[in-house]
Amino acid sequence: MAGKRDYYEVLGVSKTATDEELKKAYRKLAKKYHPDANPDNKKEAEAKFKEVNEAYETLSNPEKRRMYDQFGPDGPQGFGGGTGGFGGFGGQNGYYSYTTSGFDGFDDLGDIFSSIFGGGFGGSSRTNKTGPVKGADLKATVDITFEEAYTGVEKEIVITRDEICPTCHGNKAKPGSNILTCSVCHGTGTIKQVQTTILGQMQTQRTCSNCKGTGKVISEPCDTCRGKGTVRKQARIKVKIPAGIDDNQTIVLRGEGEPGERGGTKGDLYIVVRLKKHSIYTRRNERIFCDIPITFTQATLGAELNIPMVDGTTEKYKIPEGTQTGTSFIIKNKGFKSVNGSYQGDFVFTVQVQIPKRLTKEQRDLLTELAKTMGEQPPVKKRGFFG
Ligand SMILES: [Zn+2]
Ligand SMILES: [Zn+2]
Repeated sequence: MAGKRDYYEVLGVSKTATDEELKKAYRKLAKKYHPDANPDNKKEAEAKFKEVNEAYETLSNPEKRRMYDQFGPDGPQGFGGGTGGFGGFGGQNGYYSYTTSGFDGFDDLGDIFSSIFGGGFGGSSRTNKTGPVKGADLKATVDITFEEAYTGVEKEIVITRDEICPTCHGNKAKPGSNILTCSVCHGTGTIKQVQTTILGQMQTQRTCSNCKGTGKVISEPCDTCRGKGTVRKQARIKVKIPAGIDDNQTIVLRGEGEPGERGGTKGDLYIVVRLKKHSIYTRRNERIFCDIPITFTQATLGAELNIPMVDGTTEKYKIPEGTQTGTSFIIKNKGFKSVNGSYQGDFVFTVQVQIPKRLTKEQRDLLTELAKTMGEQPPVKKRGFFG
């Protein structure tokens, strides 16, 4: 994406422009470059129009704008794949991409158009009813355990989605029946109209209502899908969840959404991963935290502890004599792997000294002896006023 113009420059606004200023600039430019408003140099207008849309789409989204300001037009690894630094990861055939914030389309573009053009335009890229349309994206969630997030796991999820009808293969007609060319639009799917608007007289297109833009009329609809071209189906989908994934991160399976229309590509499936809470471990990014109870004699004399790791193994760790309760120790590289596999976080445990609630007679006698040697209560440490 080299040679791309700066988005702020495209919209003619300053880097500190407010949302309102962005919107205003966008409306002005979208109106100016709308292909239908430039019948004489449609191609050039269309390119400009696209550029303006792209700039606005990015800058009007606070998260994307922040990323843009930080990384420039190409993003950390290109925009679109993902945000939050996980974009583009996935090694496995580029099948996955990760996002931390889910996905946001640009749904209000249609609204902006209808407010600018009063709904008189039919030819914008969003409302084009005759060209290929990408299928709808779907969303699903999957719950995994702390351990599964640590090692990575393959899960099967079940979703209900539209799939191409197996009987008519999506062409909506009963096999063997006739498909006729629409007599109203002569197969073009659109009807051209000359319309007088605030911008002067111009030619607009609208979708043929007789054939709904397909250019074809079906004499006998398919029985299986009743002429819809698609059927509702339950699909079982296997999803590989990589080690290191965190709560609320999203895996995108390209092409696992609903089928497109008129040759459009399939939509995508966004799977939000939910991490179940663990009874003893917590995490912050790739770091794992846990509390380890120790006895007061271990704390006093020092001890070699067996620390349970998330994968079920144990790590030996020697704490020094005189360890205070609440002290944290780090075991390097025993935390979560980063999702892109580039490094592994640390494991942090915090010792909690347990004071025995009941003692045997022997223990009590020993401690009483010990207490005698300790003398008075230790002096209160001088600290700051709010210390
Ligand atoms: Zn069918
Ligand atoms: Zn027609």
